[in-house]
Amino acid sequence: MRSMTLMGQSATPLAAAGVRPLQERFTSMRNAVRVQGFPQYQQRRERLDRLLDLTLAYRTRFLEAVSADFGHRSKHETQMAEIFPAVANLRHARRKLKSWMKPKHAPLSFVFLPARASIVYEPLGVVGILTPWNYPLLLALIPAAEAMAAGNRVMIKPSELTPATSEVLRELFANGFDEDEATVVTGGVEVAQEFAKLPFDHLFFTGSTSVGRHVMRAAAENLTPVTLELGGKSPALVHDDYDLARAAERITFGKLLNAGQTCIAPDYALVPERKVDAFVSAVQAAAGRLYGRYEGNSNYSSIISDRHRERLQKLLDEAERGGAKLVRLGDPAVEAEEKNEGSRKLAPTLVVGGTPDMTLLKEEIFGPILPVVPYTDLEQALRYINDRDKPLALYYFDDDGKRVEAVRARTSSGGMVVNDTLLHIAQEELSFGGVGPSGMGRYHGFEGFKTFSNQRAVYYQSRWAQTWRFQPPYLGFVDKMLRWLIGY
Ligand code: NAD
Repeated sequence: MRSMTLMGQSATPLAAAGVRPLQERFTSMRNAVRVQGFPQYQQRRERLDRLLDLTLAYRTRFLEAVSADFGHRSKHETQMAEIFPAVANLRHARRKLKSWMKPKHAPLSFVFLPARASIVYEPLGVVGILTPWNYPLLLALIPAAEAMAAGNRVMIKPSELTPATSEVLRELFANGFDEDEATVVTGGVEVAQEFAKLPFDHLFFTGSTSVGRHVMRAAAENLTPVTLELGGKSPALVHDDYDLARAAERITFGKLLNAGQTCIAPDYALVPERKVDAFVSAVQAAAGRLYGRYEGNSNYSSIISDRHRERLQKLLDEAERGGAKLVRLGDPAVEAEEKNEGSRKLAPTLVVGGTPDMTLLKEEIFGPILPVVPYTDLEQALRYINDRDKPLALYYFDDDGKRVEAVRARTSSGGMVVNDTLLHIAQEELSFGGVGPSGMGRYHGFEGFKTFSNQRAVYYQSRWAQTWRFQPPYLGFVDKMLRWLIGY
């Protein structure tokens, strides 16, 4: 057990953090940077080793805690979508650390030779990480690993909606790291608000676009640079020529993982008008194969809270009132019979015939509801996408390479997957992030390492330098050189 002082509990909201007040912990961490300096390779490597070992050691605790927070989530899902990618990311960072840390030679114009220059990746200092509830491990562990690989100290504030997982995370860091090295702060929204006001050297936020605005505003006071990993409505566009059953299966998997509570879940499906009925049947068949039924199915996740479930139910009620057809998957009779008191599961529902004024076609859904939006031709489908905010992900189903490139070139999104969903997030060296309202800044692999580094530009002057020739008094040589260099 490393130094973990439980003190300073007061009646203030920050006492919810359960340990020393936030500002004090931050100052102590910042002082540790000043006193101890930046860690070199061995120390960074050792921190990554520790985080990896602890993640593995806490694996079963995490599986139970996440499921408890959700009301139920499959252990397979948590392992596949959180533990595995986090562990893979940590192993990758360990493997690559030495090469990432190497200064990168920057070629110079001949005018400045024989000087040389490099980009040196230096730590920033103290990094703050604010995380959401939907993947409470992954979205804390990956940024923490990349920030530590870059030589920083890390403070994490997990979401108040996953108290059990946050507590296990807190314990993991308290047991494995000095409080000045890496630490987890727990508590409610008021703690998150105070956290965002701390003068971090970098603030990494994952969450909704609306809260992202508050976080950026708070960070601006300190000129703290931010990475914002936000949400939005990620479309799945199916071309007329593409195998409908295959597209339906991949969209259904992407949508129903974690019951749709995934930032990059396909939010809605754009389907050729004449194929809407066939698509609905194909999704029904795919969902049936994947889950069969929902209420009693241990592979199917619950919704995180009553409030979130009510919000989703309201989206459905509003759509139905507005004349949309709801196609509820699963057998309602069986589900009703099995429904436990207090269960927060929500059976997947397709919405056909929705109109643009309906909330579920305006706001990010973040649940197991899939509106099917018909289109007449590809131009119209692209217009539909481009008339809206740039999404976090775009899924395009088409085997025609030329059209795929055309769709890529004519749209914009943080990431894109061709002929599948979600898989771009699992690639260690494929940078991840949004664009416009879906976010700013990127991480994963070397991109993450760079995000959390000061990419310091260093110029080494040579003893044989000739640049003095360009100094005043400006003689004929300077005139000649300028004419030649500028080209007039
Ligand atoms: P949220 O924005 O409500 O909360 C995120 C975090 O911000 C929480 O820890 C919360 O405590 C904190 N917070 C809340 N109010 C705050 C404030 N005023 N100042 C500072 N911090 C504050 O998001 P959520 O509901 O936890 O997560 C869902 C959203 O996150 C969705 O929009 C989803 O798309 C997005 N998301 C994005 C990614 C990504 O990688 N881009 C990943 C997961 C989730």
